[in-house]
Formats: sequence, C-alpha cells, structure tokens
Amino acid sequence: MKPRSSPHFVRRREVPKIAGRGHLPYRHFVREDFRATCAYCPLEEIWAAGVENFEVDHFRPQALFPELRASYYNLYLRPLEMRAMANAIYAGWRIPLIATLCC
Ligand SMILES: [Zn+2]
Repeated sequence: MKPRSSPHFVRRREVPKIAGRGHLPYRHFVREDFRATCAYCPLEEIWAAGVENFEVDHFRPQALFPELRASYYNLYLRPLEMRAMANAIYAGWRIPLIATLCC
C-alpha cells in the first residue's frame, strides 16, 4: 500500500445541522469526514466487509466526558471490532494502541 502524504481525513469546518438529538444523526457526516476509513488507521470500510462493520466512536469516552456525548468533533469513525477496547482506553494513549490493533 502506498503511504499517504496527508491525513486520510479532514473534518468539516462547520458542524452539520441535524434533525434529532444525540450523535446518531451525525453518522453520515462523520463517515464523509473520515472518507469511509477508520479514524485511527488506513482500514477502509470496503476491506472490513462494508459500512455495517463500522460505527461512530466517541473519541473522548462518554462515561468520562458526558458533556461531549453529542459533540460533533468528538465523533470518529472506527470498525466495530475496536469498540470494547476503545471504551476501556483513555484518550492520551488511545490512538497508537488502536492503530496497532486495527492494522
Ligand atoms: Zn483502524
């Protein structure tokens, strides 16, 4: 695989206007921002058997940061397999560990 010369995702500058509450209505926009690729490694949805195997993740865990539960910029895209591990890890050392386990 050819290394990427720039980050594989770009967050939009304005928070999308959504109907509804919570983080689930943002899923479509988060997926676009992350270009259907894991936020923590180059794993794309197509290589993980499709969109249904990815979900929106709270980068800062809801249990520790309840005020960020529906904060758009706290929402990242990642494969389902990372859920249990990510929920138990604090943000400071989360990215390198997840990247190691994803790839
Ligand atoms: Zn990954």
